[in-house]
Amino acid sequence: MSVMDNLVDSHTHAYMLPKKDLELMGLAKIVDVVLCSFVPLAKHIETLIDHFEELYSIHCKRLEEFGINAHIFVGIHPRCTPPEWKKLLPVIENYIESSKAVGIGEVGLDSMSKTEEEVLSEQLKIAREYDVPVIVHIPMVERIKAVEKVISIAKSIEMDFGKLVIDHTSSDTIDYVNDSNAVPGLSVKPPLLDPAKIVENIDKYCGGVLNSDCATLTDTDPLAVPKTVKYLEIKGIEKSIIEKLASLNTRKVFRIK
Ligand SMILES: [Zn+2]
Repeated sequence: MSVMDNLVDSHTHAYMLPKKDLELMGLAKIVDVVLCSFVPLAKHIETLIDHFEELYSIHCKRLEEFGINAHIFVGIHPRCTPPEWKKLLPVIENYIESSKAVGIGEVGLDSMSKTEEEVLSEQLKIAREYDVPVIVHIPMVERIKAVEKVISIAKSIEMDFGKLVIDHTSSDTIDYVNDSNAVPGLSVKPPLLDPAKIVENIDKYCGGVLNSDCATLTDTDPLAVPKTVKYLEIKGIEKSIIEKLASLNTRKVFRIK
């Protein structure tokens, strides 16, 4: 099977999508997707505990119906950090240990408070301990500062940068991410990143992992990965580079076969 028939969406919230969208993703040859945990405004640890379990027990099967393999990442997102977040750390460890989750995410920085830094640091420690990948969110403002902060936290705990995906990278942050040897997450969504920006600077983006970050709450497109592949093909980008961006890079970093 060609790699083009084997696309990976490296960051989604596809559990929010209606069946019709999942069907389109399957038809567009998206074979593997990462489901990142995220509950807007979760105030109670139980909310996230139930959410993690829902991803595992309901949504994997729901995606399977459309020929899509789901790979679960669990974590505490900066926008949904309950006051008692420390009690979630052993829960996250448990998901990794039992292989119900294969990575940690979506985690990251948003308002860049001290608490957010601590929550991120503790979760990166779990990733380091279990040698699993992490998907890190950066905000829409003060983006370079956020990337630098993520890099400094990851360095301070001696994280493997080959497993650190700094997501929502765009023209403002790509050089910082590349220089650090972290993996650039390429969320193709407005106003952040579009296929034309990737083509313009393909040498900078070719080590990245394409994703849609699709969710019902945002202006995102579940077909962002196949549409980007099509655009790159039309613009004459080498097939081997497209294969890396849309499949092989993610498979390597996330150890997806
Ligand atoms: Zn996301």
